[in-house]
Amino acid sequence: MTTDAPAATKPPIDKKALLEKYIAERDKRLRADGNAQYLELKGVFGHYLEDPYTPFKERAPKTDHVTFAFIGGGFAGLVTGARLKEAGVDDVRIVEKGGDFGGTWYWNRYPGAQCDTASMIYMPLLEETGHKPTEKYAHAPEILEQCQRIGKQYGLYDNALFHTEVEDLSWDDAAKRWVIATNRGDRFTASFIGLGTGPLHVPKLPGIPGIETFKGHAFHTSRWDYAYTGGDPKGALMDKLADKRVGIIGTGATSVQAVPHLARACKELYVFQRTPSSIDVRANQPIDDDWFASIATPGWQQRWLENFTQNQAGGGADEDLVQDGWTDLSRRIRERIMHLPPEKRTPRDMLAAYEDSDFEKMEEIRARVDNIVKDHETAQALKAWYRQLCKRPCFHDQYLQAFNTPGTHLIDTDGKGVERITERGVVVAGKEYELDCIIYASGFEVGTEYKRRAGFDLTGRDGLKLSQAWGEGMRSKHGVHVHGFPNAFFVQPTQGANLISNVPHNLTEAGKTIAQIVRHALDEGAKEVEVTREAQDQWVNLLLTGPGRMMGAPDCTPGYYNNEGQDPGPAARYNVGYPAGAAAYFKYIDGWRKAGTYEGLEFR
Ligand code: NDP
Repeated sequence: MTTDAPAATKPPIDKKALLEKYIAERDKRLRADGNAQYLELKGVFGHYLEDPYTPFKERAPKTDHVTFAFIGGGFAGLVTGARLKEAGVDDVRIVEKGGDFGGTWYWNRYPGAQCDTASMIYMPLLEETGHKPTEKYAHAPEILEQCQRIGKQYGLYDNALFHTEVEDLSWDDAAKRWVIATNRGDRFTASFIGLGTGPLHVPKLPGIPGIETFKGHAFHTSRWDYAYTGGDPKGALMDKLADKRVGIIGTGATSVQAVPHLARACKELYVFQRTPSSIDVRANQPIDDDWFASIATPGWQQRWLENFTQNQAGGGADEDLVQDGWTDLSRRIRERIMHLPPEKRTPRDMLAAYEDSDFEKMEEIRARVDNIVKDHETAQALKAWYRQLCKRPCFHDQYLQAFNTPGTHLIDTDGKGVERITERGVVVAGKEYELDCIIYASGFEVGTEYKRRAGFDLTGRDGLKLSQAWGEGMRSKHGVHVHGFPNAFFVQPTQGANLISNVPHNLTEAGKTIAQIVRHALDEGAKEVEVTREAQDQWVNLLLTGPGRMMGAPDCTPGYYNNEGQDPGPAARYNVGYPAGAAAYFKYIDGWRKAGTYEGLEFR
């Protein structure tokens, strides 16, 4: 763990000047092409998607029937599969495009990959599997192992189809079954389906002129080429880079974790930056066996989950078990609001209190750069000029320090991005940087159509396509059930708790709900379960009474949080959570499940 030097004495915050600076920095980055600036990985770029981790195995196509098919083998599929197995639903089939379980953690094996939310609450089913996380923020190999552990413990490997992409999912109303077709020639049926394809799984490349002409080696961070770099996902030195000039394009959460490892390994490392990330303290530490044994009493993980949500997205709690950057942020905002006299706790004053706390936090984060980075010009360029939740907040204790390593160069593009890629390297402001390898830390598709990202549309009753049903915005009850799509369940945060600081919590709760509903349908001999239109409308109307989206406001610097600064259209107002907040939603859904009446659903 690194201890930062004490912060320099803070001058008073000039809010007006800061806001002007934020707007000026945003304006530099706004571009008319929005999401279209990125390249889809097909055609000449298709090889960027190849799986470097698991050899492809031939198998015969499946034409059988299963009770439950789940699309996606990441956390969503694993936790839902586990809960279904616990509920006695034995034939669960997970279909996954990767070569194993893990989802994000299958693909993202870049050096330094690590969870940004504390392991105790981020890693699912710790109590059920009896695993003690080794660190407060576990590294990727341990998280992938946890996925595999869940798969093994719950027998989810038996029926799984890996390296398989679903191409079509259609409801057969006569047979009351879903028909699932894949790119491996499968055409099997399922009584129920679950969808958990995740929000960030389709890598994208920046549409930089000349990108296809580069003659050196290149790959995307989610397909890390250890055969080229040497080293391994556990952090062994990438010894094959000792004589290489490497460029990494992008400085988001992925790059922040990979750069310290590259800085250690490369002869020369060039970090091409368009917008700096905010880098707060990480303070990772090992988890002590005795301490863990003392707290891991029955029900511990649920208690930790609820405590985090209450502190981060509820009214606060007497105790803060997790104590991290997320709960700190919320505590600061709450304290400021509590300092307001009761008559001043209006939405406007509360927003102002939130803004003050954000200015304070971001000033600290900028001061941290000055404390750590020795070269003045580099330090200035690494400062983030936007509100903290405009972009994914990052936490790291070696990233800024990496810029003090001889041979590591920040190439700041002043918001313009890389100008051109040539046969030999990367051009910024007219200067060519010759490189042996370019690593694209350019992120994943977010703002593109669901159909394009999932690779399929869903055809429900009477030929209704999901893309039509959601043409004007997402409509569901609890983010799980969609009218017109019987026996289909969505596992994701939106229109439920929408707890972004700990996504797995949303998924484990949805998994519990789905397993209980399926068990009930099977026990009742019901062939179909579906949300009524009225119940769905009521839920959506309730969602629209809330405060709207907190993250990625339109005046933020562009990024995937705010649709690259473009108007996301009226549909985006449906991408919200329960108006009373995540903690209240989890309480509500627990009551809904316990009532056992499944209000809003019809079993036929
Ligand atoms: P991001 O989309 O966050 O970052 C992409 C980067 O590429 C940005 O810095 C972007 O700049 C830059 N970029 C794009 N085009 C150009 C260009 N033409 N020239 C120069 N730079 C360019 O992707 P990440 O993979 O870093 O992260 C995606 C998400 O994955 C995170 O936000 C997070 O949700 C998740 N993640 C989570 C982690 C965790 O929990 N531990 C770790 C890593 C990722 P600009 O900002 O200007 O657009």
